Parts: sequence; C-alpha cells; structure tokens
Amino acid sequence: MKKKIIVIGSGFGGLGAANRLAAKGHDVTLFEKRDGLGGRGYQYQINGFKFDGGPTVMTAPYIFDEIFELAGKKRDEYFKLVPLDPFYRIFNPEGQYFDYRHQLKDMLDEIEKWNPADKDGYLRFVKNTRGIFEIFHKYTDQPFLKFTNMLKIMPGVIRLGGYRGTYRHVSKYIKDDFLRRVFSFHPLLIGGNPFDTPSLYTLIVQFEKEWGVHYAVGGTGAAVQGLGKLFSDLGGKIYLNTEVDEILIKNNRVSGVRLKDGSKYDADAVVCNGDVAFAYKHLIAKEHRKKFTDSKIERMKYSSSLFVIYFGTKKRYLDSKLAHHNIILNKRYRELLKDIFEGDKLPDDFSLYLHMPTITDTSIAPPNCESFYVLSLVPNLKAKVDWENKGEMYRDAILNFLDENYLPGLNENLAASHFIDPPHFQNTLNSYRGAAFAFRPSLLQSGYFRPHNRSEEFDNLYFVGAGTHPGAGVPAVLSSGKIAAELIDPTTSNRKN
Ligand SMILES: Cc1cc2nc3c(=O)[nH]c(=O)nc-3n(C[C@H](O)[C@H](O)[C@H](O)COP(=O)(O)OP(=O)(O)OC[C@H]3O[C@@H](n4cnc5c(N)ncnc54)[C@H](O)[C@@H]3O)c2cc1C
Repeated sequence: MKKKIIVIGSGFGGLGAANRLAAKGHDVTLFEKRDGLGGRGYQYQINGFKFDGGPTVMTAPYIFDEIFELAGKKRDEYFKLVPLDPFYRIFNPEGQYFDYRHQLKDMLDEIEKWNPADKDGYLRFVKNTRGIFEIFHKYTDQPFLKFTNMLKIMPGVIRLGGYRGTYRHVSKYIKDDFLRRVFSFHPLLIGGNPFDTPSLYTLIVQFEKEWGVHYAVGGTGAAVQGLGKLFSDLGGKIYLNTEVDEILIKNNRVSGVRLKDGSKYDADAVVCNGDVAFAYKHLIAKEHRKKFTDSKIERMKYSSSLFVIYFGTKKRYLDSKLAHHNIILNKRYRELLKDIFEGDKLPDDFSLYLHMPTITDTSIAPPNCESFYVLSLVPNLKAKVDWENKGEMYRDAILNFLDENYLPGLNENLAASHFIDPPHFQNTLNSYRGAAFAFRPSLLQSGYFRPHNRSEEFDNLYFVGAGTHPGAGVPAVLSSGKIAAELIDPTTSNRKN
C-alpha cells in the first residue's frame, strides 16, 4: 500500500532511503534545513572552486548502484565514479611517505621499503580482516533490532579478536611503529580512536580492498546531485531551507512533523536522517521518551569533531609530493589522539588529512588553479574550546604548516578559503555536541547497542545516517537507508553483494 513518508534531512542516508521508497511509488517528502542537499556531503562553491564539504573517499560503488537499479536507472547516467590508486599517501613526521595501494603485490612492495620483516605479518593481517569481512559484511545491511542478532555475531567477534582495540590488534601482526599507524588509522574515518575502536571495524579495510576507493567526477557533490535528481525524477518532493522543529507523537505513534514556521505535515512514517541524539533530545518531547531520556543521551559516548579548511590556490602544485588523498601524521600519535578524544582543550599540534582532488579532476577549480581541503580531528564540544577566538588562529597554524612543509607559497597564492569547526556541526548540522560522526564506534555502541533503524520508542519512526546501525561513513549510511526502507516496505529490497 502506498504510504505517505517524510524524510528529515538530505545526507546520504536520507537520500538513499528517500529514493528507495520513492522508487516503489510511495509519496515521499524530504525536508532539509540547509540551502542545499548532502548534509556532510554539501558542496561549497567559492570563487569558482567547488569544495566537497565532507566525504571524499568513496568505496563500494555497488551500494549506490543498487539504488539506481531499484528505480530502473543506471547510476552512470547520473554521476560517474573513477577508481584511485594509491588509496592514500601517508606521510610520517619527517615527510617520507607510504603509498597505501589497492593490489596486494603493490602493498607488499611498499612494506618492503619500510620494514621487509612485516610482509608476513601483513599477509596474516589481511587474512584476518578477510575473515572479519566474511562474517560481518552481511550484517551491515541488516537491522539489529533484537539482542539475538548480536549473539549471532559474538562468537566470530571473539574468534577473530574483533573486540580488541584496532591498534593493539594490528600490532599483533605488524612490528614497525609507523606501519602500525598506517594499518590502524581506519577508525579515524568513522570518528573512532584506533586505540579503543574494536578491530571489528577493520571491515572497512576489506571493503576498500574488495571494491576499491573511488572519486565521484565533479566531486562528491556530483553524487549528491545525482541522488537528488533521481529522487525528483521519481516524483519525490524536496523542500530546502526547511527545518523540522518537532516530530509529532499521537497515541504512542508518530503522526507527522511540525516545521520551524509552525506548519504541520502528517505522515504514515517518518525517516529521520538528522542526528539521532539531537532528534531524540530536541525534536521529540520529553514526556514521550522512555529509553532515550536526556540523561541517557548525555551518557553516551560521542565521536570527535573536525576542523576543516577548504582552500583554493591560484597556482598548481603538481610538482609537490602529494597524491589525491594524503594523511600527514604528527610525531605525537597515541597521546595526541588521547588529547582529542578525552581531553578538554584544543591540542597545539595536529595530524592532517589533505585532499587534493584537482590532481584527478580539474573541472572543480578555475583553470590553472588547485583545490584542496585539509582536515584536523579536534575534540567535540564537551571540551570547552573558545572556537570563536581560536578558529582563525588554528586555521593559520595549519595553513602555515602546509606552506612550510608541503605547499610552498601557499599563503600568498590563496584564491579561496573557508573553514568549519565544531560549532558548525552543532549549529548548522544539528549534531549533538558537534560530533562529526555521531556516536563513537565502540562495541557497546555498535549493532544492537547502537540506536536502532526502527526507533525503540515508536514503531513508525525510522533512523538513517551515522548515528544508527551500521554507523558513520557513506557506505554505512547508505546501508542504513536500505535497512530503513526495507523495514517500511520489504519490496524495496535488492542486493548486488
Ligand atoms: C569532513 C568529513 C569528511 C568525511 N570523509 C569521509 C570519507 O571520505 N568517506 C566516507 O565514507 N565518509 C566520510 N565522512 C563521514 C560521512 O560523511 C558521514 O558519515 C555521512 O555523510 C553522514 O551522512 P548522514 O546520512 O548521517 O547525514 P548527514 O550528512 O549528517 O546529513 C544530515 C542532514 O540532516 C539535516 N537535518 C538535521 N536536522 C534537521 C532538521 N531538524 N530538519 C531538517 N533537516 C535536518 C542536516 O542539515 C543534514 O543535511 C566524513 C565526514 C566529515 C564531516
């Protein structure tokens, strides 16, 4: 039966669910607070440059493809993905780099350059992550609504050491200190500290090995626009600059939403792509919540936040040692991460992720210009950092570091620059505590223990996005959209892998 469905938010999770449901003929309306689609994948356009706001590393294209196929379309007709290799170029504090490659042979060649003795350990590590992948991949697009779902995966978690902190797990196989960092950084991509994020999440390593790392031509924004266009083609309605202020509850069920301007819309089901903690705390009146009380929300553990500078230069840097995706590691590693995840002030030093997409795609910058973004993990708003005063200083410190070490002449060649900080995540993206990746990916906040895709409180309220199962990252939030759509209408089910 055709249902009236409201989707709150146009992140990848929301767009994925909205398209799947619209493809099956449901009457779907999407409300987005910002002036453009994409959430963390919003694309900024400044002085002729296009800057992807967030996700840049795209893996598992099949998850996108499934959405278009469900609608009888081809993803390629909406946006294109091209593979990248190396996936990442990882710099040590001295500026030497390790190319993190797709093919096993190339990886072994890289390890040979750093510590040949680690080649055997790496092969065993790959075997272990393969085991983790084989067990858990199928659960990444299944709902975890019952505790018994969790019991099913626990023997595998124990057998493969999936409960162990990622860094400790990697250290069982790899001896070289720098290589340990190289093979344990993946939790950072989903807001976890490699020292306490369970190695279960090395699943991501295997996702990349299996399906590669890709770039969306025109930037990730092109993927967002592709999903937006598909939704419109399917008859979906999008309202931008439209914030939902309340999820309305009647007789213990969701009856619709009230917008900031006071207007009300009724619905058979609501799919919330807004941050889960924020939604429970601010969109649903206290008296309706039994499990997600304010104090539970307060007690949960949140990911770090981010400071991101988008900048363009009026010259090219093709002679630099940079690749498309670069990770620049600081001397302090464990201690720096501890300061970011547990500390209450902004550390003076930083490790960086530096994105240089114009190396692959010149269409996103004016001629003879280079487009970048640089990202630093910073504490979320639990730490009392005075961002209003610190933001510009922090930006300058990072740009000066890049100017001195990687991009000579950067400061005098800047042609565009903009930054976002933890208050942006809180105030613009409505993310509780300004966390960039919602709840931390700990064992006790994963699977059944993460807020469910179908709300534990109301039968016809569904969650998609980073704060629900399976977690943060584009493939994961698209999977959450698939799960929620299937819970609403099982005929939306289609699987390629
Ligand atoms: C800087 C950065 C880099 C990243 N890099 C990568 C990467 O390379 N690869 C990767 O896979 N992942 C990456 N991630 C993680 C990934 O981007 C996110 O996990 C994912 O995009 C989140 O999608 P989502 O579905 O949770 O929605 P979000 O992107 O969080 O979007 C939610 C949307 O809901 C809207 N909204 C919220 N409340 C309301 C309301 N009340 N009314 C109306 N609208 C509302 C918001 O405005 C927003 O548009 C990165 C994240 C960041 C921040």
